[in-house]
Amino acid sequence: MAGYNVAPLARLIEQFERLPGIGHKSAQRLAYHVLGMTKEQAQNFADAVLEAHEKIHYCKICCNLTDQPLCPICRDEHRDNSVICVVEDPRDVIAMERTNEYSGSYHVLHGAISPLSDVGPDQLCIKELLARVQDGKVKEVIMATNPTVEGEATAMYISRLLKPLGVKVTRLAYGIPVGGDLEYADEVTLLRALEGRSEL
Ligand SMILES: [Zn+2]
Repeated sequence: MAGYNVAPLARLIEQFERLPGIGHKSAQRLAYHVLGMTKEQAQNFADAVLEAHEKIHYCKICCNLTDQPLCPICRDEHRDNSVICVVEDPRDVIAMERTNEYSGSYHVLHGAISPLSDVGPDQLCIKELLARVQDGKVKEVIMATNPTVEGEATAMYISRLLKPLGVKVTRLAYGIPVGGDLEYADEVTLLRALEGRSEL
């Protein structure tokens, strides 16, 4: 197969293959789709990739992605800055916002501590979080990292750093998904659901 490869096409396929969730077949399909674009469409596509890369950076307060110095949530003066919800990923902010129940602020770590993947605390936005709490106006930090081994370890690590600062640290209660069945829940999920139980 290699002998018949057109180098620029192979490079394009390779780039698509690097994207998460894209296997070789899908990468091929996307690459051929790009080849079918007009020059203008291809240019817009390439420009969008570069522009997003150049203009989007971390919010100076919460490390969420933004093209302004501060993200829209940190700019919103109606949000309660005394509560910080700590999440792993910018997409988690969007998920929390969809509940329409949370009016505090966020802090995006951009990952979780994972010795297996060589991700240590220094690679995450933890210093920035400590600086916010050290300011003294924060009353509660909600650890909303994922209920995975890495997410739990990260929540524990951060709460140990925060507690000496005199701030209340809470963890999201995880439980049985709505519409789920107790019988099929794994023991970690069941245990967390039991720990997070509330009075009726
Ligand atoms: Zn922000």
